[in-house]
Amino acid sequence: MNIYQITYEPNYRVLGLHFWGCNLFCRGCYKNYRTDDLSLPGSSVEQLKDAPRAKNPTRFLTLEEVLEKTEGLAPRDIFFMGKEASLDPELPLLAARLHARHKGFHTLLTNGVKLTDLSNIDEAVFGFKSASESVHREYTGLSNLGIMNNFKKVYQNGKKLQAEIAFIPNLVEEEEIGALAKTISEIDRKILFRVTSYFAVPGAPWPAASREQVEDAAAFARKYLDDVVTMASDSRDNSWKPEVIL
Ligand code: SF4
Repeated sequence: MNIYQITYEPNYRVLGLHFWGCNLFCRGCYKNYRTDDLSLPGSSVEQLKDAPRAKNPTRFLTLEEVLEKTEGLAPRDIFFMGKEASLDPELPLLAARLHARHKGFHTLLTNGVKLTDLSNIDEAVFGFKSASESVHREYTGLSNLGIMNNFKKVYQNGKKLQAEIAFIPNLVEEEEIGALAKTISEIDRKILFRVTSYFAVPGAPWPAASREQVEDAAAFARKYLDDVVTMASDSRDNSWKPEVIL
């Protein structure tokens, strides 16, 4: 499989499965500078702006190894996260095996470019990069045509859905975030929408977003949507202590 890291948070009983490989080329992708889960102790987003380029992972687990490494754990929530987990053809089978064993709640974090079999995924979180195609091309190198259609398809299939977008100063600001919120409101204004902060990385021209910028953009999105949160307003407390399983 494409899984290169497994993390587990025993207080919240959250298992994180980290997949390598992506079908976008975001200029601000922090995974180019830190491959480890950013919520691990000792990590800070401030370190990213001066970080050297990280080495790509070289060790990947088979499906059976993932099952074996996670056997003694009791996760209530399992996150399939990335880079882009949807690209792994064995994701549906792994999700089915984990559902059968733990009966937990499965969340897929995705950029939405490619849909996978979501039979054993309980909720999909689409990480949008922009509303407009031109900004998407500038930031990711590729068009965003198709992502919103995939979002609608998942919604129409009755799957739980969230949307999120990062505030990127001078690139993805209130206008872009508002336009995305408006489009999503035309599907269902009750869909949870999260505005997150961009973290500055070397080689990309944008500074880190401030909390005020994120909150202002979230307030703008609330003109269209009923359930808008920010990374700051739904972040976890100090009891969040994840461990690296592998
Ligand atoms: S979609 Fe996510 S993982 Fe992929 S390049 Fe963009 S930021 Fe990186």
